[in-house]
Amino acid sequence: MAAEDVPPPLEGKKRRVGVMTSGGDAPGMNGAVRAVVRMAIAKGCEAYGIYEGYEGLVQGGDMIKEMQWDDVRGFLSEGGTLIGTARCMAFMERAGRLKAAKNMVVRGMDALVICGGDGSLTGADKFRAEWSGLLEELVQTKELTPEQTAPFKHLNIVGLVGSIDNDMSSTDATIGCYSSLARICQSIDYIDATAFSHQRAFVIEVMGRHCGWLALMAGVSCGADFIFIPEKPPSEDWQNEMCKKVAKQRNMGKRKTIVIVAEGAHDQELHKITPDQVKDVLSKKLGLDTRITTLGHVQRGGNPCAYDRMLSTLQGAEAVNAVLEATPDTPSPVICIIENKIVRKPLLDAVALTKSVAEAIKAKDFAKAMQLRDAEFGEYHSVYRISTAAELPALMLPPEKRMRIGLIHVGAPAGGMNAATRAAIAYCFARGHTPIALHNGFPGLIRHHSDEPLGAVRNIEWLDCEGWASKGGSEIGTNRGLPSEDLETVAFVFKKYNIQGLFLIGGFEAFTAVSELRKGREHYSAFKIPMTCLPATVSNNVPGTEYSIGSDTCLNALIDFCDACRQSASSSRRRVFVIETQGGASGYVATIAGLSIGALAVYTPEEGINIKMLDKDIDHLRETFAKDRGQSRAGKIILRNEKASKTYTTEIIASMIREEAKGRFEARVGVPGHFQQGTTPSPMDRVRAARFGVRSIQHLEQFFGKSKDEIAMDPMSASVIGIRGAKVQFSAMEQTEKYETDWKDRRPKNEFWLGFKGIVDTLSGRPK
Ligand code: ATP
Repeated sequence: MAAEDVPPPLEGKKRRVGVMTSGGDAPGMNGAVRAVVRMAIAKGCEAYGIYEGYEGLVQGGDMIKEMQWDDVRGFLSEGGTLIGTARCMAFMERAGRLKAAKNMVVRGMDALVICGGDGSLTGADKFRAEWSGLLEELVQTKELTPEQTAPFKHLNIVGLVGSIDNDMSSTDATIGCYSSLARICQSIDYIDATAFSHQRAFVIEVMGRHCGWLALMAGVSCGADFIFIPEKPPSEDWQNEMCKKVAKQRNMGKRKTIVIVAEGAHDQELHKITPDQVKDVLSKKLGLDTRITTLGHVQRGGNPCAYDRMLSTLQGAEAVNAVLEATPDTPSPVICIIENKIVRKPLLDAVALTKSVAEAIKAKDFAKAMQLRDAEFGEYHSVYRISTAAELPALMLPPEKRMRIGLIHVGAPAGGMNAATRAAIAYCFARGHTPIALHNGFPGLIRHHSDEPLGAVRNIEWLDCEGWASKGGSEIGTNRGLPSEDLETVAFVFKKYNIQGLFLIGGFEAFTAVSELRKGREHYSAFKIPMTCLPATVSNNVPGTEYSIGSDTCLNALIDFCDACRQSASSSRRRVFVIETQGGASGYVATIAGLSIGALAVYTPEEGINIKMLDKDIDHLRETFAKDRGQSRAGKIILRNEKASKTYTTEIIASMIREEAKGRFEARVGVPGHFQQGTTPSPMDRVRAARFGVRSIQHLEQFFGKSKDEIAMDPMSASVIGIRGAKVQFSAMEQTEKYETDWKDRRPKNEFWLGFKGIVDTLSGRPK
């Protein structure tokens, strides 16, 4: 297009924000596009979709299209990327970027949100750095006039990391990595069953050319015997190292062997390690019947998991905020997540840091490579090593420092309870402690008769719990009963079995149990021991943490349920589902599920339900169905927490909608109930459970050697472990129960997620 054909700059017009997906596709990319498009429109901008990654930006024309609110309907639950992606060689050259710059100006766009991997974000950063030079050249060559380029002096670039490998430094998780991990773990769980049956060994190759995150996390989630990752290669003598570990497990009686090999695996001399080599070693040296499974592109596909839907939605919304807040001096940001906190970091630094990991590996500086990955990575690697029951002489304590540690589950089962217990037990063995399983919660202890062969207090062997990494429910039995049912007997049992530290896993009841035991120290010295609680509940309502293990499994079960409901409506008439979620008096599950499925409205106990709210929402439904041109034949979802209102029950809300719809659409009720506890725990619940399990025992160890009174005086001796913002930390029970707990409603006083509800509403177009 010659300069004279180009429309004038858009003075006084709406700001135009472009969004693209680039590099390898990753589940969750569509959620990011939806959030950017809708948030941009909600904030008074126009949104443009750039199709096929940088190829679309270079070619322009029909590959850059304005996107309306309804164009992204249904995007959240779709895998891959619906606006396409491509590897674009032209953009690698300046000439290609020149064309891209011209297209941006021609279309009046000065802001670009790019969801892709490190390559895509490197390209984005280069584009931004060259921007003024590109515009100057376009003016010099008369492709554009100075007047046309004048309003576009600054290019706003915001990066969203979309990649299944989780290979970007600066963020704990990339959009897509947990969905990919879910696919891998599901496959390994299937393989596990056949490996066990035939006593076979399986070598499983997973993606990750430069990053071992998927292999490492799959190793922790599935209790693999050995893993090969690029950042921490085994010694040159890896064949013997692996055989020693595998043989040890087999000698203990283990019937199966799982070895995970990252695509980019190599030894310390950078010689590639292939699944075939690993198979040969296992077959020839150990005589194991060994098979290879290469998971390949299965790892990329499929629906995004709950976490990726939530992450992409929150990050997409944040990207638009970053665009609107940018000044000429603000460095281009990349939107990251650290533990539980969405943060902006300079794109340039994140790209440089990521590159330096690859360079460190190339230079065989593996210690540096590990250090440059986020802090979590190193910790997970230790958890993996500990939970393979490897010989770790450096960890073993002298006999006089070893403890007898009780492990107990309290409350309803939640995904990850067994994984946490298994990891804690593995760590106990690595240190020489004696782990003691206290079966069936506190009522189990209270009813305990030591003369029964299967009493409630049992020592545990590694083989008993080795297979628990992926098991749902509670293998040692759980119970809602509290110690206050009979504190005296509980104290008696603690004393009798010389319990020197207590690790409790469970929901609000486990939290309450620690509080009761702490207060019980006044009368019973048996409670003057260190104790810590790992929150595990689908409701995520435990004070002291923003994340309870089991809540991710619950969200995944719930979004599966909602997707099925919605799909069931696609072939029939227009339908609204009012779905009742668990969560007790906490609206967490309803709200995060609402973010993850794009609910039309979410009703929480925190906000309650009133007639005006229902009236507005029914009006909104009426309007949405009226202007719909066929897309919303798939159902709409309203999520109602089980305790949101005593009056407006799920049934009543559905009836009210039905009545008001006057036949134009219909309403159904869905109550997933216990289905929300899920079956197999999600990988996120498994890995976090393992990490927190190890940390919890490490915390208890700190009290070794202290007198009972010193322990009782130390507020941290009764604690709860949790994620708070960007940190994992222990909180003193005394403070947490006093200042942070809403005892009446059994939830934290300040719930971190309350602000997310506004995002659900904005993105569903719910009237204020
Ligand atoms: P994945 O993590 O899936 O590999 P990625 O974003 O790293 O995703 P790449 O193929 O490396 O995938 O990059 C995608 C596109 O980004 C490239 O095809 C190219 O158009 C652009 N790109 C990558 N690196 C650069 C660069 N150094 N300069 C300019 N553009 C680049």
